[in-house]
Amino acid sequence: MHEIAQIYVDGQFVTPHGEEWFDLYNPAKAKVIGRVRLADAEDAAHAIAAAKRAFASYSQTSKAARLALLQRMHAAIAAREDALMAAIIEEYGAPISRARWMAKHAANVIQEVMTVLAGYDFAQRAGTADVVMQPLGVAGLITPWNSNAGFICGKLAAALAAGCTAVVKPSEMSALQTRIVAEALHEADLPAGVVNIVTGRGEVVGAAISLHPDVAKVSFTGSTTVGKAILRAGAETLKRVTLELGGKSPVLVLDDADLAQAASLAAQAGFMNSGQACIAGTRILVPRPLLADFEALLAAEVMARYPAGDPQDPATAVGPMVSRKQWERVQHYIRVGLEEGARLLVGGTGRPAGLAGAVADGWFVQPTVFSDVHNQMTIARDEIFGPVLSLIPYGDEEEAIAIANDTRYGLQAYVLSADPLRARAVADRIDVGRVLINTVTHEPAAPFGGFKQSGIGREYGRAGLEAYMEPRAILGVHRA
Ligand code: NAD
Repeated sequence: MHEIAQIYVDGQFVTPHGEEWFDLYNPAKAKVIGRVRLADAEDAAHAIAAAKRAFASYSQTSKAARLALLQRMHAAIAAREDALMAAIIEEYGAPISRARWMAKHAANVIQEVMTVLAGYDFAQRAGTADVVMQPLGVAGLITPWNSNAGFICGKLAAALAAGCTAVVKPSEMSALQTRIVAEALHEADLPAGVVNIVTGRGEVVGAAISLHPDVAKVSFTGSTTVGKAILRAGAETLKRVTLELGGKSPVLVLDDADLAQAASLAAQAGFMNSGQACIAGTRILVPRPLLADFEALLAAEVMARYPAGDPQDPATAVGPMVSRKQWERVQHYIRVGLEEGARLLVGGTGRPAGLAGAVADGWFVQPTVFSDVHNQMTIARDEIFGPVLSLIPYGDEEEAIAIANDTRYGLQAYVLSADPLRARAVADRIDVGRVLINTVTHEPAAPFGGFKQSGIGREYGRAGLEAYMEPRAILGVHRA
């Protein structure tokens, strides 16, 4: 059994003031695997005070010093790739190939920030003015469970590159990953107080960070509901916020697309990260005359290539849902899809067949595809955050674009077509922060974030770095 009894404040592992213990689970086995002692609001206040003290000198460090610090962080995280992968499988249930990618990603995001920082000029000119990019101050970084280590490392690297100090509030369900990251950061020998990590409940520690007058910035990844609560809490002190929230991403299959390739890409986009992905392509828009052909191809693809089961089995493509609550949420949405008249193509309620042994009671759902979905149905409107896809037939391209944009979300879209220029013209009309044409790959140099209720601000690349800074314009005298 794992027992995580300390938080990381002011350069030291310390016992929190908070006394609540929170059970940690292996979702593939639906079994308790340990517990974590949670921080409380007083711990958050100590961490914020430490970060504020550290900001005075850290904000003055040179670019070279920050690059050296990030290099040490990168090396320490990269050295723990295997341990991180094991933790990701154990407490999150990511299938082994995905878990390996996620463990590497935690180090890679630091490297990507280093590349941006190396080429970034903090002293700029605008007309007659000098413009100096200033770090904002203490940054509160709040992460979800679906990629906890990656989000901690990405947000931290950008904050530290900008000259901010940080208080991290990781997902309480991801304490194994958080401990590994904290140990790596401690080993990387960062100045005391530059990074503080306080695992606690969102409504306690997350809320304390969002309200605290000494926190200048909150960067949050999580649900739209909590994002709005953070925005409201931060309004009192006019905090800068970056909110990376939910999505209901459309996959537009144009009528000239290679249908077999489109079915393969749609399945990849839909079932990535076991469907627990904000960028998952969950609304697949298909020309009505091609619907039957596409259904057959997608159903065959899902049956053949997306088995749900033991994340330790290399053949598994879809792992368990992270918690019982999440499992029940997905089951609920599958029932609602049936009740509202969508036609079940693959999957359905209940666990997949064939689960046995240690994983027989795990929180697995069947990879599920509905067809004849209408965009007003609940399953087409709500973010389900599980492997449940909706096929929505459309008439012409105009209608496809209208359906794609008829959502409160605007994070990502996919366009699949044999004609890249036609796809590009469609992409230009979709109200989302990122459009992927005939691909499901990631580009870390490009800004990432949502239109509409998918968020505020951008992470990654230059925009992600500038999200932790404020420009100061100075007129009259130029720095020599
Ligand atoms: P969540 O919003 O419930 O929790 C995210 C984090 O916020 C957790 O650390 C939680 O403890 C904390 N939190 C909860 N209440 C809080 C409060 N009142 N104040 C401050 N912090 C609080 O989300 P989740 O269930 O952990 O993650 C799933 C959601 O995250 C999905 O909606 C998904 O779309 C979204 N997500 C978005 C992105 C993106 O980049 N856009 C990436 C991954 C996940």
